[in-house]
Amino acid sequence: MASDESAAAPISTESFRANRPEIVGPESPQKPFPIHLSGAVQHGFGRGGKDLGCPTANLPDESMTPMSSVTEAGVYYGYAQVSREKNGQVILPEEDGRVHPMVMSLGTNPFYKNKNMSAEIHIMHDFKADFYGHPMKAIVLGYIRPQLDYTSREALIEDIETDKRVALRSLARPAYAAYRADRFFDLNNMAS
Ligand code: ADP
Ligand code: MG
Repeated sequence: MASDESAAAPISTESFRANRPEIVGPESPQKPFPIHLSGAVQHGFGRGGKDLGCPTANLPDESMTPMSSVTEAGVYYGYAQVSREKNGQVILPEEDGRVHPMVMSLGTNPFYKNKNMSAEIHIMHDFKADFYGHPMKAIVLGYIRPQLDYTSREALIEDIETDKRVALRSLARPAYAAYRADRFFDLNNMAS
């Protein structure tokens, strides 16, 4: 358990990391999921993302209102799509505009002693360039694990890698995979 009494979340222990399930949640999304989010990608705190090998796209606070049905800080999974266009100009290549699996962190980022609640989305796709200012849509389909605190950067990176694998496996189930083609996403964005 947490040894630092100022910690906002329990610490990720070695035994937690060694015993994580590879698939999480029921066979199909249950309430309050699916949760639909959309907004223009904005700058975050400029730390923690890229230097952990895991850039996270931030949505403005007002885009997070639909997440208010979820009270637990932690890691969630689903699908996301970034608009290829910014200010009416097509900037990103066709593959960047597709619907991709994502993991989303909702919480206070205790590792960085960050006080404000925020949601950040890592999209499991290799984007060729940043997409700040681009409209982004996401459908949150399930919950992976609580927010944890970390005593080492290595432990944090290990949990993030596991989160990505768990998200991909969990999304491979038919009732989840179906959301990739949901009408909420913009099919025109994928045409080349
Ligand atoms: P910030 O603190 O500004 O959010 P990050 O280091 O977390 O900085 O990087 C996030 C930015 O990286 C996103 O806003 C986006 O423009 C870019 N990016 C590139 N690839 C990805 C990806 N796979 N998932 C999320 N964001 C990505
Ligand atoms: Mg970020």
